[in-house]
Amino acid sequence: ALDGVERVMPVLKPYKMVAKESHPDPAVVKIGDAEVGGDSFVVIAGPCAVETREQTLSATQVVADCGAQVLRGEAYKPRSSPYSFQGLGVDGLKIMAEAREQTGRPFVAEVLDARDVEVIGEYADAFRVGARNMANFTLLSELGTQRKPVILKRGLTSTIEEWLLAAEYIAKGGNDSIIFCERGIRTFEPATRFTLDISAIPVLKQETFLPVIVDPSHAAGRHYAVKPLALASVAVGADGIMIDVHPCPEEALCDGPQALLPDEFEDLISHVRPMLEIVGKHL
Ligand code: PEP
Ligand code: MN
Repeated sequence: ALDGVERVMPVLKPYKMVAKESHPDPAVVKIGDAEVGGDSFVVIAGPCAVETREQTLSATQVVADCGAQVLRGEAYKPRSSPYSFQGLGVDGLKIMAEAREQTGRPFVAEVLDARDVEVIGEYADAFRVGARNMANFTLLSELGTQRKPVILKRGLTSTIEEWLLAAEYIAKGGNDSIIFCERGIRTFEPATRFTLDISAIPVLKQETFLPVIVDPSHAAGRHYAVKPLALASVAVGADGIMIDVHPCPEEALCDGPQALLPDEFEDLISHVRPMLEIVGKHL
């Protein structure tokens, strides 16, 4: 009855802008030209970290040739130990920009700190917030002011509701190009690096209109488990997968045990393709 009121809706969830109620149709988020969501399935792949120019260009060329639409390869690495390799910083972003030039594929880069948003935004086609930063609210708010998409990984011990609220921080700032990424949670089970919460995908599909992808590499931490978990992700309705690929995993400075060899990645994609047909999606 009030002037200027177009629509009234009951607000029941603690998150509002990312809730399905506010936007019943699934969103398609674009990373460069690559579509994520709806019936478009995205494969993001590349090395965990940019270590050298040769290692990065070799891995990114292979994944692009196999059909990956988006590249990964991190320049800023969140490491549990301060003595581990921390990434090449801006030099790593420059190598990824060269990989984009060479393959014609956009790339996503992890951002650890609100102070790096500007420089990463100059080079990368999308930001990624890693598991250890999911509750870095200053960083999330800063990404809300950006116009490039954000892949938001789930925190190691975060509930789905906390994860949705983290996305709400980004959306509230004005950026609703958000992609959720399930990457496993910490449980009592040490046989895998984390426990992939496969049920989070249908739950998120119920709660939000935003796309949901899965990182089976960081969840499993073991290369032999990456393919089965990737196929399970397709089966439960994920909108994409993110896969670590390294030309020589035994020499990797970061996360070698979970990296696929180029031919293992090719085999994975050849199994993903027919499954996508069954679930009505395409690469
Ligand atoms: C990564 O994808 O490189 C990464 C660090 O993953 P996570 O934040 O999920 O541990
Ligand atoms: Mn990693």
